[in-house]
Formats: sequence, C-alpha cells, structure tokens
Amino acid sequence: MTLTDVIDVLEVAYPPARAESWDAVGLVCGDPAQPVSRVLFAVDPVAVVAEEALDWGADLIVTHHPLYLRGTTSVAATTPKGRLVHTLIKHDVALYTAHTNADVANPGVSDALARAVGLVGDLVPLQPFADDPWRGLGRIGDLPRETTLGEFAARAAAGLPQTSWGIRVAGDESRRVARVAVSGGAGDSLLSTARAAGVDVFLTADLRHHPASEFVEAGGPALIDAAHWATEWPWLDSAASILGSSGVNVETRVSATVTDAWTRGY
Ligand SMILES: [Zn+2]
Repeated sequence: MTLTDVIDVLEVAYPPARAESWDAVGLVCGDPAQPVSRVLFAVDPVAVVAEEALDWGADLIVTHHPLYLRGTTSVAATTPKGRLVHTLIKHDVALYTAHTNADVANPGVSDALARAVGLVGDLVPLQPFADDPWRGLGRIGDLPRETTLGEFAARAAAGLPQTSWGIRVAGDESRRVARVAVSGGAGDSLLSTARAAGVDVFLTADLRHHPASEFVEAGGPALIDAAHWATEWPWLDSAASILGSSGVNVETRVSATVTDAWTRGY
C-alpha cells in the first residue's frame, strides 16, 4: 500500500473541502508514493507521539490537530515543530491531519464522543450544514433514560479516557437530563446553539468562566467541561476502523498517550 492509497480512504470519510477556511488539513509531510504498512492515530502531532510512532515502526501518523495552522517560513529543527518535521522525515514517517473536516463528518469526532459518554439512538448535528442535515458541528442525542446531571456526569467521566482533572459540571446536579448535546474540542462558539436546540446539557471542552457562568445563570442548559484531548480521543478508534475496514491492507493503532495540555491537577 502507498500513502496515496491510505489518503484516498481518509479523504472519502473526511473530505478536505469540508474543513473550515482557517484550517490546515491534509498531508503535512511524506511522499505520496511511499509504502505504508503501519498507521498510528493520535490527537496531537507532538514529540511523544512521534516517539511512539518510531518505536512501533509506523509509516504514517494521522492526527486530529494540525502541526502548522498558520504560515511558516522555516522547518529548521530550532523549534519543537521543526524538530518534529525533521524526526519524521529522517525516519520516513508521514504526517496527515483531519481536523475540522473530521469534526463535521458523519461519523465524525462528535459521534464518537456522543457514544463514549453513553448517548444512544440517532445522532443529529447540533449545527448542521445548510446543504446537508446529517453533517455539521456537534451532535445531539439521548440518554437511554432520564437521569440526573450528576449521574450523567459520572457516566461521561467513566466513558472518556482519564486525564489530570477529569470533567467539571456547571448546574444543579439533581437537574433531570435526557437530551444531550456534545461537541469535541473547544465548543464555546456553540453555547447559544445548544440553548436554542433545547437540550438539557451540553458537553464540550475549553469552556471559560464568563461565558459558562452567564450561560448557566440564564437558565442553561447545564454544562459539562471535559479535557480537550479526552473529547477528541474517542474519534481515533472510529477513524482507525474506517481505514481498517476499507480494504486497504495496513495495520492500525490508536495512541493511548495522553497529550492533553494539562498534566496534573492539585
Ligand atoms: Zn481539538
């Protein structure tokens, strides 16, 4: 198999044309003609993930987050990102990114998150595309039965990979919840959309004090804030399965290395 064979599968599942205009998705380094037999999936293109790829003998790393999001004029090994590029190219390891195009795909990042925290039944986008009601940002789904915010929070925490500070809840823990919106990664921008959707709770990451406080003061929905890395990690399995069942003959592995920015809570 070549890198092109693998990319062809990924770009059917996650069309690059659906990425946000500010995003940088696709091949970061690697030769399209190079052979690929092992593919490592990870959230972040960071040194510890590159090490993992080298240890395992991966030929390709597929990450959710881009390495370079803004223009750069140098990949010299004088910066962490430049050093990463050097490490990868020296060892013939390609790097490919599916970011906002994976967020909006079906199934995408928020589908995997929704299932990880226990949502069942059909999932619909929280913010669907105008031209496609089955694709878009975030997902809305239902719990198997109505429960309390506190119980759902415990269920969500258990379903997500462990990070240094777990999850945080804003709202009355005895509040009844059944309909849930989720959005992998930083979901600040979807707060008012979640309210308009009439869900009982919105689970996302990277929420800030003022928007969260004002949102809950105004009646909600309740909020659950999880670690950014943890909300996107469940997607890796989904992406690896899509590649694994595509007929492209490669070995896949999902990195379990926690690369959330926050490494310890006190
Ligand atoms: Zn993210």
